[in-house]
Amino acid sequence: MRHKITDAIRIQTNKTNEMEHSTPLFLTSSFCFDDAESMRAAFADETDDNIYSRFSNPNVQEFTDKICALEGAEVGYATASGMSAVFGSFMALMKKGDHLLSCNSIFGSTHTVISKYLPKYGIDHSYIAANATEEEWEAAIQPNTKMIYLETPTNPGLDILDLDMIGKVARKHQIILNVDNCFATPVNQRPIEYGADLVVHSATKWLDGQGRVLGGVIVGKKELIHDIYLFCRSTGPALSPFNAWILSKSLETLDVRMERHAANALHIATALENHPKLSWLKYPFLKSHPQYAIATKQMQNGGGIVCFELKGGLEAGRHFLNRLKMLSLTANLGDTRSIASHPASTTHAKLTEEERLAVNITPGLIRISVGLEHREDILADILQALS
Ligand SMILES: *Cc1c(COP(=O)(O)O)cnc(C)c1O
Repeated sequence: MRHKITDAIRIQTNKTNEMEHSTPLFLTSSFCFDDAESMRAAFADETDDNIYSRFSNPNVQEFTDKICALEGAEVGYATASGMSAVFGSFMALMKKGDHLLSCNSIFGSTHTVISKYLPKYGIDHSYIAANATEEEWEAAIQPNTKMIYLETPTNPGLDILDLDMIGKVARKHQIILNVDNCFATPVNQRPIEYGADLVVHSATKWLDGQGRVLGGVIVGKKELIHDIYLFCRSTGPALSPFNAWILSKSLETLDVRMERHAANALHIATALENHPKLSWLKYPFLKSHPQYAIATKQMQNGGGIVCFELKGGLEAGRHFLNRLKMLSLTANLGDTRSIASHPASTTHAKLTEEERLAVNITPGLIRISVGLEHREDILADILQALS
C-alpha cells in the first residue's frame, strides 16, 4: 500500500483534455448531463456524477479524499468551516432525548454549540474532566448517551486524552466516538486507529497552515458520513471549490510543515521550561507534561502549540502581548507565522474568572502557535517580551 503522505500529494482529480499537471479550479455551481437518462440516474444516486456544488465538486472531493487517506477513513464530507463540520456531525446523528458526553476543555464555539444550542433541540450534554480515569468515563455514560465528543490535545489547555482507553469505553457501550483532530493533524495522530468512528477538522488551522481560508471536514464510517452528507447537502454548509483547491495544495506540504512546526515548538518549550517569569509551561512531548506517557503513545510528535502561565496573571498577559515585536497578535493558530494569544483577555474575556477556571483558562495563560520562522528568532522575541 502507498504511504499516506504520498497520497496527500498524488491523489488528484482526473485529468481534463488539457492534460494539466496541477489540479484546475472547478468554479462551477452545477454540472451538465448529456441526456435525460444520465440526469435521472445521477439524481437517483445510481451514479456518483456531480450534480450541484452544494452536494459535491471535484476540488472538494480531491481535498476530502486526501483527508480520508491521511486519517485512514472510509469516506468524508468537507464543509465551509470547522464549526459547520462539528455542528453537522451533531445535528445529523443526534435527536431529541439523546445525550452528548464531552470533555470540559474544548474549543469555545464548540462549547457554545453544545451548551447553548443543542439544548434547544432537546439534546442533553455533560462534561467530564480532560484527565478523567476509565472508571470516571464509565460512570459518566448515561443510558441515552449517543456520542462522545473530544479534542486531544485540547485548545487551549493542551490536555491529552487517552484515545485508546476512551475508544474502548465507546465501543463497549456502542457510542459514536467523534474526535476533533485539529491540533494534532493526521500526520501526527490518527484517532480512527484507536476506535474513533468520526474525525472532524478545522481545516482553517494547520491543514491550510498559511492563514488564508476557512474550511472544515468530517471523515469516518460510511453509514455515519452518509447521514452527515444528507444533512449537509440539504442544509448547505458546503466548502467553496476555491477554498478546497487551496486546502488540497496545502496538504501536499502538511507532513514537512508539521515536522518543522513540532521541532521548533519543542526547541522553544525546552528553552523556556524553567524560565523564572513562568509558573508552568506545557508541551505534550516534555516529560513535565502530566499526560506525557499518553502523548508519546498516540502522537508522532508534540505538535506546534506551546502554553505557559505568566506569574503576573491577567496584567502580565496584557504586557507580554504588548511587548512582542515579531509574533502576531491574531485570533488564529496553525500558521507559518508564529502567533501569541492570551485567552483570558480575548477569546474568554466574557466569562467570569470562575467559568474560565472551569475550562482550564488561568489568568496568565499564553498560547503560542509556533510558526516556521527560524526557531532562534521566535525564541528571541518571546525572551525579550518576558524580560
Ligand atoms: C478553530 C477550531 C475549530 C473551529 O474551526 P473554524 O474553522 O474556525 O470554524 C474547532 N475546533 C478546534 C480545536 C479549533 O481550534
